Amino acid sequence: MPGRTLPTFTLAEVESHNSTKSCFVTLGKNVYDVTDFLDSHPGGADLVLEYAGKDIKNILEDEASHAHSSAAYEVLEDSHVGFLSSGAGSAANGKATSTAVANGDGTANGTNGRLPHPRTGMSSEEDLSKDTDITSDYKTHKFLDLSRPLFPQVWNGGFSKDFYLDQVHRPRHYRGGASAPLFGNFLEPLTKTPWWVIPVVWLPPVAYGLSLASEGFANPMEVVFCFLSGLFLWTLIEYFMHRFLFHLDEWLPDNRVGITLHFTLHGIHHYLPMDRYRLVMPPTLFLALATPFWKLAHAIFFFNWHMGTAVYCGGVFGYICYDLTHYFLHHQNLPLWWKQLKKYHLEHHFLDYENGFGVTSPLWDKIFGTELGPRAKKNL
Ligand SMILES: [Zn+2]
Ligand SMILES: [Zn+2]
Ligand SMILES: [Zn+2]
Repeated sequence: MPGRTLPTFTLAEVESHNSTKSCFVTLGKNVYDVTDFLDSHPGGADLVLEYAGKDIKNILEDEASHAHSSAAYEVLEDSHVGFLSSGAGSAANGKATSTAVANGDGTANGTNGRLPHPRTGMSSEEDLSKDTDITSDYKTHKFLDLSRPLFPQVWNGGFSKDFYLDQVHRPRHYRGGASAPLFGNFLEPLTKTPWWVIPVVWLPPVAYGLSLASEGFANPMEVVFCFLSGLFLWTLIEYFMHRFLFHLDEWLPDNRVGITLHFTLHGIHHYLPMDRYRLVMPPTLFLALATPFWKLAHAIFFFNWHMGTAVYCGGVFGYICYDLTHYFLHHQNLPLWWKQLKKYHLEHHFLDYENGFGVTSPLWDKIFGTELGPRAKKNL
């Protein structure tokens, strides 16, 4: 917790660092030395100097005038040099103020002393599992009241698309990870899907489809090849679905139908990312999304039904692997490669939902330039 040992500055001290030689800015109680950053700021050094010695909360959040990526906040974090003393504290009582401010800061930001990201309100993956104060969340944001059924609130809330999108991507955590009510009536059980439903429901049809498909091939290796192609194709479909359907965000129709659909498909998972029963896809929803792909596969392989079916089965098998991976990334501590994947996916939740769409691998993020992490920092 390096934040706790940093020095305290008075407002006058911060304001005196207002030149290219030494340039401080503040964000709430945090003081940053951005001198080294002046030259690399994409908007130019002058724009930063305008705010030298001042608070930059508003300009950072004002996306219309000056959009800042999550990388901007990472840069700030690296240049965190201290805390602003509250009131007209002089150097004499600086030490006492320092403790008070540091503690206050710790409570406000979560416990690890890192910056909360202004677009998600979170600063680490641990924050995803901290209970939301339901009353104050509703009071502050005027979005959804977690103590009442959510669906009617989304449908009747009269939210503008922009407000909805901003709010729904700020993760909440309902009572230790329990499932918040969606309907609050007899429909409630239908809204919950435990993870094991996915293999139980979908593995048998995949096996059956494969056995049908293999009847059309003389060489079993050909079925295997088609199946593996379908599996690989799935990774691309996974990426496109997550990026362009689930996060349709920008092109979402600005009405209650659009908003409720977004919430059902993926919004709820960003709103309550650690809800175990609203994570994998309900089989009915999967059926609706998978049927067009069945038609597509047979349109492409119109000359060979068995080939189309084998590829399709590979794709569905890929989906099963994806949904299980997604579930375990959220709810298990995993070894090796999955540890990185977990970190990567949870960053999509608490840091930057506009990047990091690959769940089973970051391959397509790399190819299409939506990778999370150090690469983003360079493009600041
Ligand atoms: Zn989204
Ligand atoms: Zn997730
Ligand atoms: Zn997402």
